[in-house]
Amino acid sequence: LPRRFKDCTYSVWTEFVDLVTTHKPLNLGQGFPDYPAFDFVPSILAQISDSKNDLIHQYTRGFGHPRLVNVLSKLYSKLINRSINPFTEILITCGAYEAIHSAISGLIDTGDEVVIMEPYYDCYEPIVRLFGGIPRFIALKNIDVNSEKDAFSSKSWQLNRNELENIFNEKTKLIILNTPHNPTGKVFIREELEMIGNLCKKYNVVCLSDEVYEWLVYKPAVHVRIASLPGMWERTLTIGSAGKTFSVTGWKCGWLYGPDYLIKNASIAHQNNIYTYCTPIQEALAICFEKEIPKLDSPDCYFQNLSIKLLPKRDAFMKTLINTGFKPTIPDAGYFVVADWSKQSSKIDLSSEKDVEEDYKFAKWMTKNVKLLGIPPSAFYSKEHKNLASHLIRFCFFKKDETLNQARDILTNWK
Ligand code: PMP
Ligand code: GLN
Repeated sequence: LPRRFKDCTYSVWTEFVDLVTTHKPLNLGQGFPDYPAFDFVPSILAQISDSKNDLIHQYTRGFGHPRLVNVLSKLYSKLINRSINPFTEILITCGAYEAIHSAISGLIDTGDEVVIMEPYYDCYEPIVRLFGGIPRFIALKNIDVNSEKDAFSSKSWQLNRNELENIFNEKTKLIILNTPHNPTGKVFIREELEMIGNLCKKYNVVCLSDEVYEWLVYKPAVHVRIASLPGMWERTLTIGSAGKTFSVTGWKCGWLYGPDYLIKNASIAHQNNIYTYCTPIQEALAICFEKEIPKLDSPDCYFQNLSIKLLPKRDAFMKTLINTGFKPTIPDAGYFVVADWSKQSSKIDLSSEKDVEEDYKFAKWMTKNVKLLGIPPSAFYSKEHKNLASHLIRFCFFKKDETLNQARDILTNWK
């Protein structure tokens, strides 16, 4: 194995997907729905596959299928209130993963510093290191950690202004933002984004904004796109994901939008990597967007309807967690919940578990003995800060009601 990969041989997803196969727990781990959430999306793909357009199964334009980049430019031009050029300011990628990879590799050089907020989507750190970047971590802190209430709000997870200011310096090249945030469900408010944006402007830093959960926001929370703030378009690359937007995670289509010079850099990384993403999926997505954009502000638009449909699931699962002795952070967005399990200690015996981190011991013990699988959030922290997640577990609640009822029964009967 080349030296560049030596510190990133581990992936929480690989390990926990294998645990599902080995122990057959109820799976509330990796984030995806266990049912066809919206049938119209897969049916459009079926129509394309059967269509008489022979070229639909052949390569398309490398930086994005024209029909898809056109519709995305229409959508985001409206959302961030500026005209986006479909051919120079958008890049279609293989999932948000490749968007992250191409953006980072197209931007940073050896020794550049990259600010990453913890907890963070786990692939940010190894990708930054792979290209010679130096991650500078700053943890979101739960300011209500000592409250007596039976749940936290995701708004309690906050960035400390002084710490953030102190981390920026002349070597800082990039900050990676994730809003709405996985795993806490935090939606960064305008003031927080302004604080980040002002530091980016002061130190001439680019912001990579991972917004894959942009359509999964529970009212009254509102998603603000940092690219729409004054002076931020020029220095922001924003990431979206079809998997999260249309609840089809297996489609693995993502995109980046931003100013042409940043898209160009990411495109150079992309053209010698995957070169072009799958044509029929891009065509199907273009049709899905074309269908939904005219209804954008109406409750029956898919984008609005998704969080309306998920809200009762979120609330039912929060009730389950609270009633069974967990202390959840109630998410304002997304389909994950981070819950504190400290009060379960009388019911568990972690002595047989070999992991170093306490949350890993708990998640694995629970998988084997309670038959319920969640993800250990220390996977989303740097080595030095993994202790901050020692009593936490992440569950996904984008599941059939039947699955969530099974989870409730498992947790209620666990003595
Ligand atoms: N960023 C975040 C915050 C995620 O949760 C995920 C998982 N969907 C990704 C990126 C990767 O998305 P994709 O499946 O489109 O590669
Ligand atoms: N983004 C999803 C999650 O956080 C899926 C992760 C993955 O498959 N790598 O669970």
